[in-house]
Amino acid sequence: MDNIESRLELVNVAEGMLDLYLDPLILAAGCCNCVRCRLDVKAIALNDFKAHYVVTERGEAMSRAMLAASQSVADITMAITKAALYVKGRPRHK
Ligand SMILES: [Zn+2]
Repeated sequence: MDNIESRLELVNVAEGMLDLYLDPLILAAGCCNCVRCRLDVKAIALNDFKAHYVVTERGEAMSRAMLAASQSVADITMAITKAALYVKGRPRHK
């Protein structure tokens, strides 16, 4: 079934916004950048935000405007940096 309904999905805009800033801020914090630590940082930071869901077509790029409306860059930066410093001090691997 390849109609539009089968391609619709629920997306958390706050997560899309976080993805834009995750890598540079993890590096800036000097945090380990392995998959485990990145996911830990992402989970901690995302829990700081109110989820902001929208319906999109699968694969559709979210516009910057849509992303920016969900959280301010300052809030995103602060949450990711805080989470990265936490994970840096307590990595869940050797
Ligand atoms: Zn790591």
